[in-house]
This record gives sequence, C-alpha cells and structure tokens, in this order.
Amino acid sequence: MRKKFIAGNWKMNKTPSEAAALALEISEKALDAKCDVVVCPAAVCIPGVISSVDGTNVEVGAQNVHFKENGAYTGELSAAMLTDAGVKYVIIGHSERRQYFGETDETVNLRTRTALSGGLLPIVCIGESLGEREDGIMYEVVRRQAKLAMMNISADEAAGVIIAYEPVWAIGTGKTATAEQADEVCGIIRSVMGELYGDDTAEKIRILYGGSMNASNAAELLAQPNIDGGLIGGASLKPGDFAEIIKAASV
Ligand code: PEP
Repeated sequence: MRKKFIAGNWKMNKTPSEAAALALEISEKALDAKCDVVVCPAAVCIPGVISSVDGTNVEVGAQNVHFKENGAYTGELSAAMLTDAGVKYVIIGHSERRQYFGETDETVNLRTRTALSGGLLPIVCIGESLGEREDGIMYEVVRRQAKLAMMNISADEAAGVIIAYEPVWAIGTGKTATAEQADEVCGIIRSVMGELYGDDTAEKIRILYGGSMNASNAAELLAQPNIDGGLIGGASLKPGDFAEIIKAASV
C-alpha cells in the first residue's frame, strides 16, 4: 500500500515572512494528516518555512536543484546546500522550467540523479502539452519523458522517486484532467516503471497527478487506483483548500 503524498508548489509566490506564516498555518491544519505533506517554497523562503514546520508532520521541498556538486554556476543551488538547510524533496522538470528555462529530458535526468546521490527525494514532473494530446501522441510523449528521466537510475533508487503526471494544459488553467484520464496516464507511467525495474519496484513508486487539483475535485482524483497523491499549485497557497486536499488524501 503506497502512502498518499500531497505536495504544494508555491512557485514564485510569497515573501519569506509570508511563506513562514503560510507554512505555520498549513502545519496546524495538517496535524491529523495520514498522508505525506510537503510544501515547496521559493529558495529564499526555505529557512523560515523549515523553522515554521519544525516538529510537525510537514516536510519541505525545493523547486529545483543543479546537477553539479558545486562550482561556478551563478544563481544555482546544489543538493548539499538544500539538504544542509533541512530540505527533503525537490521538484524536478516542472513544465514551467521546461517551457521558460530550457529544461530538457536530459537535464531532468541529470538533476534527478544528482538529487538522489545528494540525499534528496526527487518529484519528477512529466506530462504532455495540449498540442501533443490533440495530435494523439500523448502516450508516446509521457512514456519517453518517463524513460529518459530514469536513465542510469537503479531499481533501489527508483523506489524513492516520486513522479508527477502533470498535463501541461491543466496547469494553472482551471482545466483538470478527468479522474479517468489522469488515472489512465498514471497507469501507463507505472507500466513504464515495470518495464524498467520490474513490477515490485513499480508498485513502490508513487505517481502523483498535478493540474488544477483543488478542494472540490481532489477526492475523486485521489480515489483512482494509480493516483498516489497530488502536486498542487494554486490551491496550495490557500491553507483551507490545501487542508481539504490533505483530508481527501487521508481517508
Ligand atoms: C503545478 O504547478 O504543478 C500545478 C499543478 O499547478 P496548478 O495546481 O495551479 O494547476
């Protein structure tokens, strides 16, 4: 039985003091959570958020990690910097990073490997664009992204990877994939993991859905057999709504 996993991606929102207050409010509302709860603030907000959630069941994730251990990479953050700050998870390959910051399947794989070797648990984002869905190539796209993300990653390491299926057309648009559409693609991703690592490992890997998940649609999405949780953008900035999603994942 895979434990459900709810992560909030705060993107480029909230100042450090606002983020610390939001994290505190979420941690108070998540006291009875029976799922894993993670918040992913902007890097500058991480220390304050870590203090806010200290001693609670909320963990902290970063929104990116560089694939080199250290060096002349101005503006980047290493895995060691993040783990030393108390970060446990890191989002990798979010579609906004693929779209605006030149992230590719290759850099997603490099970052995933660096995260794992550096002691972070990666939340790897994959998903088709609207054009790819309309052209009928979404299965091919998602299979390719899933395979390339996991290149040179062992079965032991893979079991700790979290994959987020995020159809690009559903992110921040208010358009949610139907529960059946989301479950189908999450199932395909699990079958790709089975081809790469065998069924035992594939059954351990948590596969999330992301794309306009909110307090009203979370329960239906989270009830699907292949959906092990959610990566949530907009609704994770509203403590009441995020708490409802956590509740839906705690049944
Ligand atoms: C996301 O950014 O990963 C996301 C799913 O955003 P939203 O929930 O706002 O669609």
